[in-house]
Amino acid sequence: MARTPFLAGNWKMFKTGGEAAEFVEQFKPAVAGLTGRQVALAVPATALERTAAAAKGTGIIIGAQNLHWEKEGAFTGEISVGMIKDAGGSMAIIGHSERRTYFAETDEVVAKKVAAALSGGLLAVLCLGENLAQRESGEWEAFLAGQLKGSLAAVGGLDLANLIVAYEPIWAIGTGKTATADEAEKTQAHVRKELASLLGDAVASATRILYGGSVKPDNAASLMAQPNIDGVLVGGASLKADSFSGIVKY
Ligand code: PEP
Repeated sequence: MARTPFLAGNWKMFKTGGEAAEFVEQFKPAVAGLTGRQVALAVPATALERTAAAAKGTGIIIGAQNLHWEKEGAFTGEISVGMIKDAGGSMAIIGHSERRTYFAETDEVVAKKVAAALSGGLLAVLCLGENLAQRESGEWEAFLAGQLKGSLAAVGGLDLANLIVAYEPIWAIGTGKTATADEAEKTQAHVRKELASLLGDAVASATRILYGGSVKPDNAASLMAQPNIDGVLVGGASLKADSFSGIVKY
């Protein structure tokens, strides 16, 4: 099954609403007339509304970097799926390694968030990835299988058309150290095999699996040429319109 390439930026805790709108103005020409792929930006919650307004009519998908699984309630500091949609978002990144590491998000919490995003109609970009010790010891295969299973534990009965998985080796995030295209391909083929055993062949072959970790304009094309790399999730290089343009036009 053909999987539409998905190229997403993750701005992390960078950019005010004004800076976001300025980025979109500079970036718009890169997506004008670009077909056969989807381009997305995961922005700070405070910039959602202004980024979405600036991106109106461009086809750029705007989303959040986190969410709470409840619809509303006494959860100080959190935002819900409904709030993201109200601000113009249609996607959320879930379980990024920075959230798992600095905010103690477990697979159980991530699973609730994935289920909430999918049942609320958002594109859910579920992030997975092993650390350097797990890569070097060879534990990564079992670790990723477990992380995938745990993070998808609550999707039973849900429509999975909006599920996207992002493989982001922790040792490659923000380090300038990219997994080689071969290494990423081999790992993502493993993730797809695990997806098949959890959710069946049809879901596994339809689900886009992105690679993330020091993606830059000069390595995007070789990564995108791999059969199991259906897109990229980009941190640092998505902050400047020219470098993210180079990536989306890989
Ligand atoms: C990320 O934050 O998802 C990421 C992949 O960061 P970077 O591209 O900066 O390595």
